[in-house]
Amino acid sequence: MSEQEHHLDTKAVHAGVYKDSTHGSVTTPIYLSSTFAFPNPGEPPRFNYGRCDHPTREALQQNLASIEGGHRAWACVSGMAAIQSVLFLLRSGDHVICGRDAYAGTLRLFLRLLDRFDIHFSLVALEDEEAVRAAVRPETRMIWIETPTNPMMRIVDIAAMTSIARERGLISVVDNTFLTPVFQRPFELGADIVVHSTTKYLNGHSDVVGGAIICRDEVHEDEIEFIVSSAGQGQSPFDAWLVLRGVKTLGARMLAHQENARQIAEFFVGREDVRKVNFPGLPDFPQKEVVDRQQSGPGGMLSVELDSRVVDPVQFVKSVRVFQLAVSLGGVESLIELPFSMSHASMEEEEKLSAGMTPELVRLSPGIESAKDLIADLEQALRVARR
Ligand SMILES: *Cc1c(COP(=O)(O)O)cnc(C)c1O
Repeated sequence: MSEQEHHLDTKAVHAGVYKDSTHGSVTTPIYLSSTFAFPNPGEPPRFNYGRCDHPTREALQQNLASIEGGHRAWACVSGMAAIQSVLFLLRSGDHVICGRDAYAGTLRLFLRLLDRFDIHFSLVALEDEEAVRAAVRPETRMIWIETPTNPMMRIVDIAAMTSIARERGLISVVDNTFLTPVFQRPFELGADIVVHSTTKYLNGHSDVVGGAIICRDEVHEDEIEFIVSSAGQGQSPFDAWLVLRGVKTLGARMLAHQENARQIAEFFVGREDVRKVNFPGLPDFPQKEVVDRQQSGPGGMLSVELDSRVVDPVQFVKSVRVFQLAVSLGGVESLIELPFSMSHASMEEEEKLSAGMTPELVRLSPGIESAKDLIADLEQALRVARR
């Protein structure tokens, strides 16, 4: 069987080269060299200067391209650096269509920073295909897709969006951070570019900030390579090595996260202190048909709207003992937070409320601890927070 045909779990462990032939190491070494010797002037070695190209980073890049099923990958210093690099494909005057409840940092970059460079954005409900078609202008170049959305867990039909993109000549980009290639394969649904915050599930151990860009084919390859090198967006060797180590257990971790999320969602359903549970794995999830069609699992994230007449949401998140009160997600340790005042604090109150994000909304990123312990922790915190 060629490497191409291997299962993701096998690729995650083995894809990526530059194992050390000197000693026959079974893992990739961390080359902490910023520069590499030329055999002759004008004859650069395979790796030349660490900002542009580096053996440890390249090992991770080959791994990520392989598990995502893409042509080439770039490992970046953060998820935002990866997103910014993709936006550098545009010119001033260009226009982008973006989902209205994209990651808050993405919206901040788009609407408050790139806006200064005369790049324009329309926030559109991507669930509504007609609204998306109507938002396309002559200068529209890109459509930015994130699904499930954060923290409302709404689903965007990727194939429907990429088909509009093809029809209108737009570059389609999918932020696949929440589901990872374990549960969602955007290239198979027609996407041109995939981005990740590797800070989250791909690294999975809450000890690196990083990002990745993966392209489906050669079309944008040279341009992205030029951007990442020119803008200095490439990840450090040590951080790249940590992500490469984290990725090896991705398949096993995602199943554990998903199982914990499922049990926790079921625990919350029907309680008198809970108004609504947002988890794509519930039988009555509103967009179940799209979930079943484009995801191979509901993933590991969920959010719940508490009934603040019965429990105090602030007291609840302050009373957990196994969960930790923190932003970010996707690590082996369980995290809980209030998006309204924490992860999405940079958004205007009005924008948050119109996206359905109330102060009672709690977002959970279950880790891989025992589900029984996690549920007992939530149960005792709800008891403490009862009014
Ligand atoms: C965290 C996150 C980002 C930003 O990544 P950083 O690594 O924090 O820069 C982008 N998109 C999504 C969906 C995220 O969760």
